[in-house]
Amino acid sequence: MGLSASTCPALVLNADYRPLSYFPLSLWSWQDAIKAVFLDRVNILSEYDSVVHSPRLEMRLPSVISLRSYVPVNRRPAFTRFNVFLRDRFRCQYCGRRFATEELTFDHVVPRARGGTTTWQNVVTACTACNTAKGARTPEQCGLTLRSVPKAPDLTELQEAGRHFPPGNLHPSWRDYLNFAGLSEIRSDEDAVDGALAAHTTLRAIQSEAQGRAFPRDMTEGEYWGVQLEDD
Ligand SMILES: [Zn+2]
Repeated sequence: MGLSASTCPALVLNADYRPLSYFPLSLWSWQDAIKAVFLDRVNILSEYDSVVHSPRLEMRLPSVISLRSYVPVNRRPAFTRFNVFLRDRFRCQYCGRRFATEELTFDHVVPRARGGTTTWQNVVTACTACNTAKGARTPEQCGLTLRSVPKAPDLTELQEAGRHFPPGNLHPSWRDYLNFAGLSEIRSDEDAVDGALAAHTTLRAIQSEAQGRAFPRDMTEGEYWGVQLEDD
């Protein structure tokens, strides 16, 4: 069977049928999903057409599974580059414009050289131009104003921000369990991309995020998430 680990991942829901995590989206490899099925830890809610065989049985790969016992969710999102961009909705907090991810940077509001910390309260999304113009000065020293006071988001706030940036290539069977804004527009079967390749792309992106790396350098955030971002 020619299935690699990254094809046909299963969307993992908590026992309350909500995704275990939105950012990154909780996906397990088909091998982990099947293991969990046999350990009786999950229920299968939806399946792929793809089938795996063993000498004794044949089963369709699960596309959506839910945990049998509820796992408490960490309400405090991790402080990562991605989550800072998401909190700021991919907008430079000085000029207010939205940029492709590779043009966005992390800015220490109070520069590190002046004792600024690398925390939710002191790090904002900034475009390269504003970041360069600001240099090692405080916003006041160079006449820049922050669009909002940076603070640690709670999970609900981050999810609300993230609803506007659904990841690309969601498998159709996942959509009933996800609450992304504008999802209905990509709901039709014609738009439903073939599971394996699509899932692979999504998983690769998620894995690279999970490993704490920046977005792929050659992608805009729109391409990354598979949606066209509109300026509002
Ligand atoms: Zn800017």
